[in-house]
Amino acid sequence: MNTLLLEDPATVAAEEQRSSGVWDYVSPSRLNLWLRCPLAFKLKYIDGIVPPPTPSLFLGKRVHDALEVFYRHRHLAVDFSVEAAARRITDSWDQAAELEAMQFKSLDECGKLKQQAIDLVTAYLQQVTAANTACEIPLAVETSMEAPLIDLDTGENLGIPLTGIVDLIADDRDGPLICDFKTAAKSAAPFEVTHEIQLSSYAYLFREATGDEEGGLEIRSLIKTKVPKIEFHRYRTRSEAHFRRLFAVIRAYLDDLDANRFVFRPGFGCVMCDYRDGSCRDWDG
Ligand code: SF4
Repeated sequence: MNTLLLEDPATVAAEEQRSSGVWDYVSPSRLNLWLRCPLAFKLKYIDGIVPPPTPSLFLGKRVHDALEVFYRHRHLAVDFSVEAAARRITDSWDQAAELEAMQFKSLDECGKLKQQAIDLVTAYLQQVTAANTACEIPLAVETSMEAPLIDLDTGENLGIPLTGIVDLIADDRDGPLICDFKTAAKSAAPFEVTHEIQLSSYAYLFREATGDEEGGLEIRSLIKTKVPKIEFHRYRTRSEAHFRRLFAVIRAYLDDLDANRFVFRPGFGCVMCDYRDGSCRDWDG
């Protein structure tokens, strides 16, 4: 495969810092939020009501940053130790908190969160080192990809690009392995459907960018248990049915944008929703 061009450090959050015009591009995070609740999508991406960063989100970004730096060094065949990755968290913490206007309740909370990020990254790197996965060769790290959305069945160009930022593409025995890092409060069953939009989007972008098929897709979860747990869940190469399902979702999403219709979707997702006690209550249908 062609090695993809590396872009500036970016995470899903960085993706959201791009132009927020909903007609500029489609992304997996936009699709996923719209699927969870069209009203929450509207509040964030159309009304521009962006909740302040939570400690959990901030921790996730610092973990992503340390892993990105680790794999960027690996990509250049430059040694970068587990300790150096932990140091990266300590050294960049204060500046990142200032940049993101992260407000901690106390110094104690700040210190505990920083240690949790260090523990997660250390556990991950120790595990992959032990499993020899650290020797895997990164083909691309934090790579931004964009491609026109062309319906595979009809050839129709939907007139809006798909964009996404892939954490890591590793050279694997089965071919290029598309990896996504997640931090989570607890283990979750590896139901493929929960990640389907993201995985199918990344595979589509990868194929458009390289002309190659991915060798597989993997979600690497760093679980914030007292003793951090690391889980790898691997998913098969995308099939035509996966892409048909993705395009069905994208078409429904674009229909909602066209109709300016964003109906609330009360349910389990409300438990974690930042709009629950504010803007959601003001919505009158
Ligand atoms: S609280 Fe529930 S219904 Fe309201 S915006 Fe959030 S996810 Fe949607």
